[in-house]
Amino acid sequence: MAALVELRDVVKHFPVTRSLGEIARGAHPAVRALDGVTFDVGDGDAVAVVGESGCGKTTLGRLMLKLAEPTGGAITFGGAPMAGLTGERLRDFRRQAQLVFQNPFDALNPRFTIYRAVVEPLINADIDKAEHADRVASAFRRVHLADFDRYFDRYPHQLSGGQLQRVVMARALVLGPRFLVADEPVSMLDVSVRAGILALLREVRETMGLTAVYISHDLALVRYLCERTLVMYLGRVVEDAPTEEIVRRPRHPYTKALVAAVPVPDPDQSRAPLPIKGNVPDAREPPSGCSFRDRCPYAMPRCAAETPMLRSTTGGHRVACHLD
Ligand code: SF4
Repeated sequence: MAALVELRDVVKHFPVTRSLGEIARGAHPAVRALDGVTFDVGDGDAVAVVGESGCGKTTLGRLMLKLAEPTGGAITFGGAPMAGLTGERLRDFRRQAQLVFQNPFDALNPRFTIYRAVVEPLINADIDKAEHADRVASAFRRVHLADFDRYFDRYPHQLSGGQLQRVVMARALVLGPRFLVADEPVSMLDVSVRAGILALLREVRETMGLTAVYISHDLALVRYLCERTLVMYLGRVVEDAPTEEIVRRPRHPYTKALVAAVPVPDPDQSRAPLPIKGNVPDAREPPSGCSFRDRCPYAMPRCAAETPMLRSTTGGHRVACHLD
């Protein structure tokens, strides 16, 4: 499958306020949110990006939607460099690439009616006004909001969390996009409505033939949605493989720890947790060599001296670890 989105050695650093000592030393500290990320998203594929908070996955999603610019490296969409998108080409990209927000309670302007919230992307994209009502109704039908016109005059605070997330999805779909990034799409919702939203995400991707990237900390969730999973740690991809391979045969020690933390729905079965230590290091000063080495039970002298590169190995895995 041809790639729709290609990332090559993508870097994103955020400058931070310097201390007096850093000014005196001429140092320019930065949070290294992404540190050389390379992968492709095939046209029509569903890819998950997982990792702990602070691993860079949300920054990655923002760069893929051109909501932020990389510090280095290159991203292409449909073969065209995203750095060069301006004017009408940028507007065309905005029509094709949409975001499903993490928190539906913050995603909608509380002063806008639901109709106004969903029609807004059509207004911004200069779509003929005569098409607005039909397009909005069609988007509501896609997200299974029965009696959709019943919602049009309501305000966000009058809807439940599950209804709001469907409205957020309708807004993302109203322009007929080709590419969707969903950032923790159910993490703010009650457990009782999560399954319905997940089923809807899967349904719209399949029926509309969308390419999708799901950002999550939850491996159990992405197993349901995605054929392929990338695991990120401190701004780098440490493992990339078919999702079932990641879950059944994780290779990187960090991935093994993530998999071991997923609850097993059988009281007679349990996975031995991997003894990883401490917390994620400060992204301003990551450890030399392998950034996971301070927490890794298998760390060896080579891990401090040499950064492991992401290399292809068996079972369709790419792994960044000196053990592999
Ligand atoms: Fe652990 Fe070394 Fe592999 Fe890093 S490179 S994950 S420290 S064994």
